[in-house]
Amino acid sequence: MNSYDLLVVGGGATGSGIALDAALRGLKVLLLEQNDFAEGTSSRSTKLAHGGVRYLEAAVKNLDKEQFDLVREGVKERYRLLHNAPHLSKKISLITPLYSWFEVPYIFAGLALYDLIAGRYSLGRSKIVSKKEIISSNPSVKKEGLKAGVSYFDGAFNDARMAIALLQSAKKEGAVVKNYYKVEAFIFDKNHKIVGVKAYDKISQKEEKFFAKVVINATGVFSDHIRKMADENVKNIIKPSSGIHIVIDKKYLPSKNGLMIPKTEDKRVLFILPYMGKCLVGTTDREAEVTEHPKVKESDIEYLLHHINSYFDLKITKKDILSSFCGLRPLVDLGLSGSCTSKLAREHIIEELDSGLITIAGGKWTTYRNMAEGLVDLCLKKECFKDMDRRCTTSEYKVVGSQSDLDSAKERLDAILKDKELSERLFLLYGDQALKVLEYEKELNNPHFLDEKYKILRAELLYAIDHEFVKKAEDFVYRRVCIGLIDENESRVLIENTKRLMDETD
Ligand SMILES: Cc1cc2nc3c(=O)[nH]c(=O)nc-3n(C[C@H](O)[C@H](O)[C@H](O)COP(=O)(O)OP(=O)(O)OC[C@H]3O[C@@H](n4cnc5c(N)ncnc54)[C@H](O)[C@@H]3O)c2cc1C
Repeated sequence: MNSYDLLVVGGGATGSGIALDAALRGLKVLLLEQNDFAEGTSSRSTKLAHGGVRYLEAAVKNLDKEQFDLVREGVKERYRLLHNAPHLSKKISLITPLYSWFEVPYIFAGLALYDLIAGRYSLGRSKIVSKKEIISSNPSVKKEGLKAGVSYFDGAFNDARMAIALLQSAKKEGAVVKNYYKVEAFIFDKNHKIVGVKAYDKISQKEEKFFAKVVINATGVFSDHIRKMADENVKNIIKPSSGIHIVIDKKYLPSKNGLMIPKTEDKRVLFILPYMGKCLVGTTDREAEVTEHPKVKESDIEYLLHHINSYFDLKITKKDILSSFCGLRPLVDLGLSGSCTSKLAREHIIEELDSGLITIAGGKWTTYRNMAEGLVDLCLKKECFKDMDRRCTTSEYKVVGSQSDLDSAKERLDAILKDKELSERLFLLYGDQALKVLEYEKELNNPHFLDEKYKILRAELLYAIDHEFVKKAEDFVYRRVCIGLIDENESRVLIENTKRLMDETD
């Protein structure tokens, strides 16, 4: 029977977090995503689990408690994300190269405050680093005028795979999760209360009806569209802002540290980060239209190139770009912030319409768990769930891939595979599930590759179809093995090979 306690529309960070939290509390959960999971904003982030160094500056300058609270919540959730998904995340050191002596104590004081706010959730102390130290770990950084720098810690994680791990976990706890199901209309009772949805299955091309006691709108930048399906007179609350990233060769950032440029010409923060053996640069911030597949603008690429070239002794040109992608921030605008999206706060809102539709929007990846906790707490106060009084358990819940002893899983993986690089890659993507991936390969000494350059195994695709909700070749290439995000040319080859194997195994 298509009848649930909670129906979540949207399979990005927000919806996936809610599905897991609600399932763990014993609710019968259905999650519907119109495309692949995390295909929207949630696979296009800077991939930092952070409290928001930038918001901290605003908090200090304006003595704004809300911004302080946002940073405090962020650093706590950063710690939890690292703890609960250790195979998908890590602590990274970020260095801020500084070209004026005046900035050194200013930036150091700010980052020391960041550590102080984190308190027991701190990942380590910030410190001043000498010019020599900066150059030795980042030889191509611009040397002229470099005075010193400050290093601090934040978290880095694989956003697309984190969403998949959350959904695998939600499924394991009893939730039903479906990708390529687009919610097209609500079903109302005679009192105009929402009792279900009509959804279109893009794969079978059929419409289905699903019923639920409560429907959650977790559709990011599409939130207003869904709200208007419930009540066409509601005012918009989302102001989308686009941000792009480019990926370049590792030679520009050979160290394991990232670089944080604290102030671009338009007073933004720029990150240059190690990512999957390459270097990720971002991001931009510009008001945008809502669209399913936002395109990278030439002017945004030029903006990033202009800024990184000001901080490197190497000249990086468009030819050096291996891949680029654009995401839309679902910023909430309650009419207070004028037109500049970079000044909109990154906190989230929860709103309930008269029809019963609950919308959760805004926030950031780092705080997905906390957002879900607040939302499910609110739902459980409803009359229809009056007999359910379950506490949230996600703060200590390890996601699929991290649920067993990871050290012994890695040891077993290393013992099975001769190729240590391959073993490392599989471990970072699948954690203890890498051993399950290998069950799909009979010839472990001479495995079948779908892609030779990145050593993508045929077994990974077979596993992903069975256990990671892969329906299309692009799902696998972009959001399971994540090659689409780092190498556009090679991803074309991999998509063709993936399609061929999917056709054969159909
Ligand atoms: C450039 C950029 C950099 C960022 N960097 C960071 C960072 O480093 N750290 C951090 O913590 N946060 C970061 N963020 C913020 C973070 O990525 C977002 O806050 C988060 O991913 C939003 O998740 P979401 O689930 O709300 O939205 P989405 O990921 O957009 O998910 C909403 C989903 O709803 C689906 N949907 C829409 N309509 C329907 C429908 N009718 N039926 C079914 N499904 C539907 C969409 O297809 C989509 O997949 C960044 C954001 C951007 C844009």
